[in-house]
Amino acid sequence: MKQRVVLLGPPASGKGTQAALLGATFAIPHTSTGEMLRRERAAGTALGLDADSYTRQGLLFPDSLALKVVEQWIDGRHRFLLDGFPRTVSQAQAFDRMLQERHLPLDVVYLLDLSDTEVRRRMLGRLTCESCGAVYNTQFHKITGDSPCPKCGGHLARRADDTEEALDHRLEQYHTLTAPVATHYSDLGLLKTIDVTPGRDEVFQTLYADMKEAA
Ligand code: AMP
Repeated sequence: MKQRVVLLGPPASGKGTQAALLGATFAIPHTSTGEMLRRERAAGTALGLDADSYTRQGLLFPDSLALKVVEQWIDGRHRFLLDGFPRTVSQAQAFDRMLQERHLPLDVVYLLDLSDTEVRRRMLGRLTCESCGAVYNTQFHKITGDSPCPKCGGHLARRADDTEEALDHRLEQYHTLTAPVATHYSDLGLLKTIDVTPGRDEVFQTLYADMKEAA
């Protein structure tokens, strides 16, 4: 079974959803740098406010910030699912060193592949619960902006960076900075590309089948 996994992909490709499903199925701790920093922001910490000034514009926050939260989180763990990190080649190189020092080689990197047109469609329909963090999409779920969260009754809201303007930046940053991370892992023989157009359940079955296999 694969136990140290990175999920890469454009915004709204389902990284968070798949990481949560796989994490629960295989009992592997998972986290996302975007989510960790959104929590810091909600708590009003200096780290969170700093990160927010970048993400609101659709810009990546500095590598040092991402590395700091991941290093804190990974300490003491030997199994993990990471979503949305590393997002630049220099983060990937620093992460390689971090794992080498801990004798924790990565088992696989999944690239969740989706066209820009579909990314735009999905992103503008995305709603997140402000209480429990569950993510929904008006395209796939029977909900509107006024519905309560089906899981906990909390308030559903669009993420501050799910706007047309921020999306242009996020897609540009994805193609220029994050796409080379896939090449980095492909060169290391770790990359598997999964077309995520079919939707959540089919993608989960594909990932589940692959994760069950030996690293
Ligand atoms: P996500 O929740 O993964 O979509 O991330 C939301 C936003 O946080 C991204 O658009 C980036 O601006 C920022 N972000 C998340 N992870 C990273 C990272 N590893 N490095 C730099 N910025 C990040």
